Amino acid sequence: MECRLCPRKCGADRENGNIGVCGVAGLKIARAGLHFGEEPCISGKRGSGTIFFSGCSLKCIFCQNTPISREGFGKEITTDRLCEIILQLQDKGAHNINLVTPTHFSDKIGEALKRVKSRLYIPVVYNCGGYEDIDSLKSLSGLVDIYLPDFKYHSGELAKKYSGAENYPEIVKKAIYEMFFQVGRPTFDNEGMMTKGVIIRHMILPGCRHDSMAVLDDIREIFSPDDILISLLRQYTPCYKALQIKELSRRLTTFEYNSVTDYAASLGFNGFTQQKESATLEMTPKWDLSGV
Ligand code: SF4
Repeated sequence: MECRLCPRKCGADRENGNIGVCGVAGLKIARAGLHFGEEPCISGKRGSGTIFFSGCSLKCIFCQNTPISREGFGKEITTDRLCEIILQLQDKGAHNINLVTPTHFSDKIGEALKRVKSRLYIPVVYNCGGYEDIDSLKSLSGLVDIYLPDFKYHSGELAKKYSGAENYPEIVKKAIYEMFFQVGRPTFDNEGMMTKGVIIRHMILPGCRHDSMAVLDDIREIFSPDDILISLLRQYTPCYKALQIKELSRRLTTFEYNSVTDYAASLGFNGFTQQKESATLEMTPKWDLSGV
């Protein structure tokens, strides 16, 4: 069967072992465990039960997770094993199940979530790049509680240059609208942990603060500030192919970051900002198949 799970719609016959543009055929993960690097309402005190999927349908030249996103690191597992991992993370005390880079496995994930639904009492977080197929998202309706998409670019030119996806801006806008349609405005439990809603993440890139502001304008055109939360990331660290590109080979300046956070506040958005110290690769998990 031809795969059309993501906007690439490359048609790879993954069931028969053919690898798609996303770099994988079968269900593959690199790590599963409690993770503390997300927004406070996701990580909490006990950690987010995070499952890192191998492969990616975007081709970001600054990716910090290259071993799993581009080089195929990970172990193939069955959908049964994915169900076990989800329930094991819940047993370990995770605040939620956090599916990282899930897009190209949305069919298998949907199947697993349906199977564990009656035993799962913590929220499911869909932590994705925002480059999503609407039908794949619709298939997850009622199974995902919190959407945590990136909104990376306003400009198609930048999206093409840095992530190999010129149509990213038009795709992400439709995708986040569908996400909001499914889960609604943010809700929290009495510990301040998120139970439903959408957090839109945006990482500001060096030299791109005007594009970041245009991203915020795009979001404001679709949503009122109470509809969603915004998480503005300053963690950009030059790595991978970005090291060879002059404009991407430096960190973000405080001026660049503050100008974007100030602009978000002027539009009335609420959400999360990051400390300067977060611009390090130390937060990147070890890819060691733990929990797999
Ligand atoms: S999920 Fe992978 S195989 Fe399927 S359409 Fe997208 S890139 Fe191609």
